[in-house]
Amino acid sequence: MEPFQLEKAENGVWYFSIPEFEKYGNVKTFFTTRIGGVSEGDFTSLNFGGYTSDKPERVQENRRRVYEANGISEGMTEGFVRQVHGDHVCCIQSEDILQEDTFTINNADGITTNLENMLLMTLHADCLPIYFLDTRKKVIAVTHAGWRGTSKYIGPKTMLKMNREFGSEPEDIIAAIGPGISFCCFEVGPEVYEEFKNVFHLIDECSYKKENGKYMLDLKKINEIQLKEAGASKVLVSNYCTKCNDELFFSHRRDNGHTGRMGAGIILTK
Ligand SMILES: [Zn+2]
Repeated sequence: MEPFQLEKAENGVWYFSIPEFEKYGNVKTFFTTRIGGVSEGDFTSLNFGGYTSDKPERVQENRRRVYEANGISEGMTEGFVRQVHGDHVCCIQSEDILQEDTFTINNADGITTNLENMLLMTLHADCLPIYFLDTRKKVIAVTHAGWRGTSKYIGPKTMLKMNREFGSEPEDIIAAIGPGISFCCFEVGPEVYEEFKNVFHLIDECSYKKENGKYMLDLKKINEIQLKEAGASKVLVSNYCTKCNDELFFSHRRDNGHTGRMGAGIILTK
């Protein structure tokens, strides 16, 4: 069963929610599609990404629509990370930050908090979003996992950060791996396979070699195994491939880099 549910908001925005997360009450989740925004050309139409050549006022309007559709516009702070395919997870603890409307933390690929009204955001165009919820302590996180971040175990490192900062125990954490480039489409060079071979013992169950010498890699499965081995109580995995579904998603690979971004957001509402 697909854990990400497509929502079609009254204002025209289409996005996915994670019902398994939202059933815990004051948790809201979304993963945006490309439908229902005001951007044009390569960014048609719901581009969430600020670090593109899209017009900033259009990106801002797209974001406003998504927040409106989710009922989270009032008094919330949006926190982005400037992703670098690394393994740093930052933590938002100080209530002071809730005075800001928006901020970006440099050189981080994951972000966690236990504050209410603090929207955590990562941006995607093939790389996987991973959502986390400590259902007991109400701690949330979202992480950007491409192959580089995955080879550095960014998923388990996010759980470790939740544990160190907030005392989250793995058995209280549920995780959800969202839409992203899937086994059907993710071809990589032998150097990527070798990188995983060095650090991940089950790589041969998550890849196969093609006749052209390249490999198909199941990035979702690798992350799922890593999170389960780290002790997460449940790991949901979306079946949606961003490269296969051009009506719903931007895709860096399919669009040769000239494309928009989907936003992965999670927030504890008041
Ligand atoms: Zn695909």
